[in-house]
Amino acid sequence: MNFTPSEIKRFEELKTPFYYYQLPLLEETLQLLTSEAKKYNYHVHYALKANANNNILAKINAYSLGADCVSGNEILKAKECNFSSDRIVFAGVGKSDEEINIALDNNIFCLNCESIPEMEVINELAKKKNKIASIALRINPNVNAKTHHYITTGLEENKFGINLWELEDVLKSLEQLTNIKLIGLHFHIGSQITDLSVFKGLCLRVNEIQEWFYSHHIIVEHINVGGGLGIDYENPEINKIPDFKTFFKLFNDVLQLRPNQQLHFELGRAVVAQCGNLITKVLYVKKGIKTNFAIVDAGMTELIRPALYQATHKISNITSQSEQTERYDVVGPICESSDCFAKALDLPETKRGDLIAIHSAGAYGEVMASAYNLRTIVKAYYLEV
Ligand SMILES: *Cc1c(COP(=O)(O)O)cnc(C)c1O
Repeated sequence: MNFTPSEIKRFEELKTPFYYYQLPLLEETLQLLTSEAKKYNYHVHYALKANANNNILAKINAYSLGADCVSGNEILKAKECNFSSDRIVFAGVGKSDEEINIALDNNIFCLNCESIPEMEVINELAKKKNKIASIALRINPNVNAKTHHYITTGLEENKFGINLWELEDVLKSLEQLTNIKLIGLHFHIGSQITDLSVFKGLCLRVNEIQEWFYSHHIIVEHINVGGGLGIDYENPEINKIPDFKTFFKLFNDVLQLRPNQQLHFELGRAVVAQCGNLITKVLYVKKGIKTNFAIVDAGMTELIRPALYQATHKISNITSQSEQTERYDVVGPICESSDCFAKALDLPETKRGDLIAIHSAGAYGEVMASAYNLRTIVKAYYLEV
């Protein structure tokens, strides 16, 4: 069991639903992550979009990670939380002029560019400020992440990145654009990648792409391989911390860096997913013909992953004393049929008032909360270190 009796006792006094973060687990995760990355001098930027809760960001910043931002507001948030500018990277397929100006005003480390028109706009805005913007090319390596198609980003059919056949034109443009400076190559092929051979495929493709640049007399200072390392949603209690050791070792073994070239990562989910839980209360148990519905007070407004990408989270009834199990569809109160956390799930006999924990909700949970149905945005509580 994930929770101690005293944690459960505390839950019983709190208004549900709420997010619950176990900060000791976050610390343990950060310790392992940073110690493994340090072995190879790798730079890790935390992807704020996975969870931008201030308390979580403070912990992450304490371990001197960089920040991977995908909007101007994320850059401002990273600055507010004291992430240093020279560790902020900015990606996104549709950066507005305002957002690019935020990046330029804050002198961030690197803008990851996704098209020639975007490079032209960054160049123009940098020129107005008399600045030279450091950029990386986000290249679409056409590597299949073998994850849900909604979180696959590195295929030619996806909207992200510059395709390989466009690179020749990109280099021609770069010669004209004197207010941007190419410092890196960037890749990000998707999220919740659990098959590590996918990353091996990425490394091999990056090696080929580097050869191409080399043959055009270009060696960049930085290679950024993005994020995407998955977590174990089925067994969060057994696999609390992703296998960072094997992950980084793979890159060290397969990716061929040039002398002095720096390798960067942008991890989101792997850092924060397992430390977060969504705690909810059973409102009603409704008998169906084939199954019972356990209707809980949290819904897709608090955790949209199941509705958005058919994701499954481990769910447990943490207060039932019953020895008997029954089969339930665990559903939320939102007026959408997709507002369903699990179908035909065996739980101990469940009744009104029982507390249900939805595990591994630290990434893409709170940060995606919405007020749909005019719901109130719910609070977060913490187990302190
Ligand atoms: C979302 C995103 C990440 C983080 O992805 P995770 O799967 O959470 O590790 C990293 N880089 C970019 C560019 C992203 O869009």
